Amino acid sequence: MALMGQMMTMPLLISSLLKHAARHAGDTEIVSKRVEGDLHRYNWREAELRARKLAQALARLGCGPGDRIATLAWNGYRHLEIYYGVSGSELVCHTINPRLFPEQIAWIANDAQDSALCFDLNFLPLVEKLASAMPSIKHYVLMTGRSHMPAQTSLAGLLCYEDLVEAEDGQYQWPEFDEQTASSICYTSGTTGNPKGAVYSHRSSVLHAMGAALPDALDCSARDVVMPVVPMFHVNAWGLPYSCAIVGCKMVMPGPHMDGKSLYELFEGEGVTFSAGVPTIWLGLLSYVKTNGLKFSSFKRTVIGGSACPPAMMATLIDEYGVDVIHAWGMTEMSPLGTASKLNAAQLKLPKDEQRRLLSKQGRAVYGVDMAVIDDEGQTLPWDGLSAGNLVVRGPWVISQYFGHAESPLITVDGEPGWFPTGDVATIDAYGFMQITDRSKDVIKSGGEWISSIDLENIAMAHPAVFEAAVIACAHPKWDERPLLVVVKKPNAELTREQLLEFFEGRIAKWQIPDDVVFVAELPHTATGKLQKLKLREQFKAHRLAGV
Ligand code: AMP
Repeated sequence: MALMGQMMTMPLLISSLLKHAARHAGDTEIVSKRVEGDLHRYNWREAELRARKLAQALARLGCGPGDRIATLAWNGYRHLEIYYGVSGSELVCHTINPRLFPEQIAWIANDAQDSALCFDLNFLPLVEKLASAMPSIKHYVLMTGRSHMPAQTSLAGLLCYEDLVEAEDGQYQWPEFDEQTASSICYTSGTTGNPKGAVYSHRSSVLHAMGAALPDALDCSARDVVMPVVPMFHVNAWGLPYSCAIVGCKMVMPGPHMDGKSLYELFEGEGVTFSAGVPTIWLGLLSYVKTNGLKFSSFKRTVIGGSACPPAMMATLIDEYGVDVIHAWGMTEMSPLGTASKLNAAQLKLPKDEQRRLLSKQGRAVYGVDMAVIDDEGQTLPWDGLSAGNLVVRGPWVISQYFGHAESPLITVDGEPGWFPTGDVATIDAYGFMQITDRSKDVIKSGGEWISSIDLENIAMAHPAVFEAAVIACAHPKWDERPLLVVVKKPNAELTREQLLEFFEGRIAKWQIPDDVVFVAELPHTATGKLQKLKLREQFKAHRLAGV
């Protein structure tokens, strides 16, 4: 008969992260650039006290276990308090992406049946406009102090966040409950059809936060000053608000001020060592730093994910600015972390260019995530770095179903049920490094062969006159589809179609070189800053490739 372990059974609850930070790193700072424009400073101890007061205030409003409390907010200390105060008191924190179309925001709030909405000052006009379309919301809370409350608003009974918190005494004990209880909800971006909700549990969030903090993942420590530039409405800022509490480090939050200048000033002013964001954010920052001849004095490393990090961007950060890049991959359905590109001891002995080639891939699986690439019959493909197939994953922080959808998204792999199909096409090499070749719907299918749009974009991005590049499939009478390269040039740069196409010669097989180049003033991005290829495809639906 099995002998049972004799350890304490303490549920893994999100409140335990904040309690730990307040008790063991209580004096460590949390600095936020407010919507109002000024800097706010306090520490983990004060954050925990205010999160408790918020939990009391929400209970006083009649919110109870399972109620969804939505946010439309930037990265800042009040948003952090809501993360903890809401989840910690058995309510469910639902971060909504304010960059979505207003109709989509209302659709998501209705699908989740949110009962309250907390929002930043600059979203007041948006919320006033949407309120009548969100009937489940009983309480609107403006995340500001009394002096910034509007004199007039169409929102009946609009509440002031600071008034709510200040009215409580903080005499509140974080409750203990089942660790499988829902802690938060994030909706997928819904590029095909309506968005779908991923419901995280306390257990999955805590395990993810521990896994993500490890040295071979995001590598957070008490010695860091961490600035998540990735918004708290983009898969919980990749779990950093939780991982930072575990390690008890200083946090810096940029609020809505994410232009190159504001970010640079915050990096330098607060001594940020570590950051995280999608490639488009770094494009803006690097261009500001380069134009002004600046260097970073404390910034040591950054996580780049959400879209493929172009190797040219990685080279600029590492070689010109001494900032290490951790290329990471994940998705909303995975809390989000799946892989990170960190070299092991043996790989550190490889020649430098081989190391860089590995680092530019999306990386090795983080403990807690298993992965495989499969063919269309559900059979696994070899880990040879060449066989591209559908990427599937499983693990304790991967969803088993979508909110409100009874049918399971999971599939069987090699006869084993329970794998989540990511919709990404990837290879895995003998070192276990995974590389995304494409989103399955972005792959260019030319004469039965696949061309990776990411490979072509990476080459274009390495051209010194290119600011941003996207490759999409364009209809072709003979080959079905051929690649079309759409490019934004750097300001004042001279570049012709022919020069750019010539740049591809010798960098990729001849038949994969794009058939055409179009120069545009800007590229469309999704609400999370990714290239919006669906929109680009629509925009260039009628494009006739040269010579066709
Ligand atoms: P989301 O759930 O909106 O964060 O989108 C997840 C999707 O973003 C993934 O399925 C990938 O297609 C893409 N993605 C995330 N990280 C990367 C990366 N490092 N490289 C390439 N694609 C990525």
